[in-house]
Amino acid sequence: LPRDLFGRGRRNSPGLAFGDGASLRRLTEAVAAAAGPAEAAPIIDGATGAGRARPVASPIDGVTLGSVVEADPATASLAMEAAARGFPAWAATPARERAACLERAAEAFLREQGRLLHLLQAEAGKTLDDALAEWREAIDFLRYYAAQGRDLFSEPENLPGPAGEANSLSLVGRGVFVAVSPWNFPLAIFTGQVAAALMAGNAVVAKPAPQTPLVADLAVRLLQGAGIPGSALHLVPGGPETGAALIGHPALSGVVFTGSTVTARRINRALAARAGAILPLIAETGGINAMIVDATALPEQVADDVVTSAFRSAGQRCSALRLLLVQEDVADRMIAAVAGAARELAVGDPHDLATDLGPVIDAEARERLDAHVAALSASARPHFAGRAPGGLYVAPHIFEIGGVADLREEVFGPILHVVRYPADGLARVVDEIRAGGYGLTLGIHSRIEEAAERIAEALPHGNVYVNCNMIGAVVGSQPFGGTGLSGTGPKAGGPHYLARFAIERTLTINT
Ligand code: GLU
Repeated sequence: LPRDLFGRGRRNSPGLAFGDGASLRRLTEAVAAAAGPAEAAPIIDGATGAGRARPVASPIDGVTLGSVVEADPATASLAMEAAARGFPAWAATPARERAACLERAAEAFLREQGRLLHLLQAEAGKTLDDALAEWREAIDFLRYYAAQGRDLFSEPENLPGPAGEANSLSLVGRGVFVAVSPWNFPLAIFTGQVAAALMAGNAVVAKPAPQTPLVADLAVRLLQGAGIPGSALHLVPGGPETGAALIGHPALSGVVFTGSTVTARRINRALAARAGAILPLIAETGGINAMIVDATALPEQVADDVVTSAFRSAGQRCSALRLLLVQEDVADRMIAAVAGAARELAVGDPHDLATDLGPVIDAEARERLDAHVAALSASARPHFAGRAPGGLYVAPHIFEIGGVADLREEVFGPILHVVRYPADGLARVVDEIRAGGYGLTLGIHSRIEEAAERIAEALPHGNVYVNCNMIGAVVGSQPFGGTGLSGTGPKAGGPHYLARFAIERTLTINT
């Protein structure tokens, strides 16, 4: 069988040249025209499910965007039961038809660009640039998994054996997959999880983050409009209680989760405590992502890549740079260059095209970040403090801290921590990063290629970036996901992702 595991017969969706005034105007007009109230609710067997309604507010200005009906545990159970009923027919649907549904959904996402970008901006507070990148990634996931899955799940693969014996291996869906997605990529990660689980032949119950149900609701409607049966894909908005009901349900066959390490552990414990089958968890969690800058690095390039990695999306990416390690001899110069570039950042309304950092997601995030800045202001050396309007806007900050071990927790916002290391201290710094236990993204800036390779080999990180920024992994080119405290693998947008959503069955026939 030709297996296009690397998705080479497929292209990622093109971007938008921001310098092209006419296209940009068309786009901003389409986004503005899409504004209006939106609603989200449980979608079970294609029908609206029951629960408790609450308003959804924009992080930009607190204005109510619409409402969400959150599922209570009873509704969550109904969704699981509906998915269990829907599974056999979807699993029996030929892979090429499942793939065609995902490809039609990609077309629908293209057509609905205005509405999707509007919601990404309004509900998640994204800049247009970030919203566009995310919308493209969602489309790329749909097409990538469709291209791979069409081959991978089509027919059994014949395997060698002695004369008189026929062996074959097939990949089939596991059953009901629960997909739990985060608010920071409410379209791309939501769609990627759902598309992969569906492509592998599973029925899916998707629980979006409580902060971003509206864009998830629209995504489900577009997927179903593209032919995914209502019995195969169910939406269950809600919080941790809803999630617990899904994960505790007897119909569960597997979980795909992106979010914090703490929550991944909680899910793991819940899975371990269940009676019956041992179930898989595919988890992509956080990181205390470091970038190592040696004395040969180019300061202008470092400045640019550090600022992008640490502050783009207001630092609300699990890939974002948190800990900058600079060789002592060049540290003053590098830090000054980074602070100089950070000074240019504009914080404010993400609808303004000049804005670099929009708001953080909610008041809780803002308070946590404020407390962290206050603590560092008392204990660390400040190198840069930006300005931000009130509301949920957090100014970018750069602090020098005493050592790698001083940063113990992922700080999910625009705060960069810097540590200097002596010329002969690289090995120690590498050991300290490894000891932290996270392994998501790692940046290296060095003009000595072998030095960069040695660092990359010594650390377990899933995504290593040399002499470039370390965010915005591209589907099919930079499969994304970490190790250790950062996740279980397999990597999203990579060649081995889909198979983990399936069961492998070997058939041996004595002929
Ligand atoms: N894939 C995204 C990136 O490379 C990060 C995903 C996340 O934050 O969960 O920036």
